[in-house]
Amino acid sequence: MPRPIRAKVDLDALLHNYRLAQKHAPQSKIMAVLKANAYGHGLTRVAQALERAPGIALLNIDDAVRLREEGYRGTLLLLEGFFDLEDLRAVHEYKLSTVIHCAEQLRAVTRGSAPSGIDVFLKLNTGMNRLGFRPEEIGSVMASLRQVRLAGLTLMTHFATADEAAGVQRQLDVFKHLAAGLSYPRSLANSAALLRYPQTHSEWVRPGIMLYGSSPFADQSAEALELRPVMTLTSKLIAAQTLRAGESVGYGEAFVADRAMRIGVVACGYADGYPRHAPSGTPVLVENVRTITAGRVSMDMMTVDLSAVPQARVGSLVVLWGEGLPVDEVAAKANTVSYELLTKVTARVPMSDR
Ligand SMILES: *Cc1c(COP(=O)(O)O)cnc(C)c1O
Repeated sequence: MPRPIRAKVDLDALLHNYRLAQKHAPQSKIMAVLKANAYGHGLTRVAQALERAPGIALLNIDDAVRLREEGYRGTLLLLEGFFDLEDLRAVHEYKLSTVIHCAEQLRAVTRGSAPSGIDVFLKLNTGMNRLGFRPEEIGSVMASLRQVRLAGLTLMTHFATADEAAGVQRQLDVFKHLAAGLSYPRSLANSAALLRYPQTHSEWVRPGIMLYGSSPFADQSAEALELRPVMTLTSKLIAAQTLRAGESVGYGEAFVADRAMRIGVVACGYADGYPRHAPSGTPVLVENVRTITAGRVSMDMMTVDLSAVPQARVGSLVVLWGEGLPVDEVAAKANTVSYELLTKVTARVPMSDR
C-alpha cells in the first residue's frame, strides 16, 4: 500500500467556481488561468474540465501546444509571451495568442521575417511595473503594430492591489486614459477584480485562484464568496504518542507539552509541499475534528494535538486543507497565500479527480 497522502481534485467544485465567475461577469468571456500546472491541480484534467471555457491562459508554450493538440479550440494565451523566434512560429502554427509586453517582443513580431497573422494581447503597464509598455510608449507601439497584419489585438493590463484596500481605481484610470480612442477588445480583471470591481469587466476576464476555490481577499472567505474548494489534501496518522508534561515533540523540541497529552504523527511533511513555516497552532482536521499542529513540520511527517480527538488512532484520516478546512486559513497561519501552497504540492503526492 502506498504512503497514505493524497490530493483529491473535485472537478464539480471547479465547474461550480467557473460558473460563479461567469455569473459575476455575465458579459465577459472567461480566460481561465491555468499557469503553474493549473495552480497545482494538473493542467490536463483542469483543461479538460474547462473545455468549454472560451480561453485558457498559461506560460509554457509546450503546454499550450499540447492542449491544442489534445483538441482545445479556444484562445490559448501565453501570459509572458514568446521567448524566441521558434516560439513565435509555434504561436502562428498552433493559433496561439501571445502577450507582447516588451520592445524585444514587439520587434520580433514586426520584423519582415516574422510570421504574420498573430493574435496579440498588448500588455500595458498601468502601475504594476512588472511587465508592459508604459503610457508614454503606447503611441509608438501602436504605430509599429499597425505596420503588420495581426489576427487580433487585445489591450491588457494587470492589477497590483485588486485584492487590497487600495483597489483598482488608480490603475483603471491610467488604463482608460491610455486606451481612450483605441477600439480594441480589453482584458483587465484577475479574480479579485472580477469579484469586486465590475467596472473592470471587459471582453475578457482572467480568473485564476477563484476557480480553484480560494479567496483572493484576506478579509473575505472563500465560503462567503460561495466558492468551493477544489483540492483536498489528506493523509493519515501513522503513529500516536502520549507525552508527559514537560516532554517535547519533533526537531528543535519546538513544542513542549504543558500537561499529559496525545500527539498524532501525520504522513505529510514539507517534501510533500506542506509549508515548513506553518507554526504550532496551524489548523488541521483529524477524524473531521478541528485541531492544531504541534511542533515543527519535518520532511515527511508532522505532528498534531489529539487532545480534542480521543478517538484518533493509527489510520485516522487527516485533512491538511480543502473540504472542511480552507487552504486560505492554513496559508494565513504560515504567513503565505493559498497560491503558494496549492502550486507547491510535490510530485510524490498522488493526485486524482475521482
Ligand atoms: C496569474 C494571473 C492572473 C490570475 O490571477 P488570480 O489572482 O489567480 O485570479 C490573471 N492575469 C495575469 C496576467 C496573471 O499573471
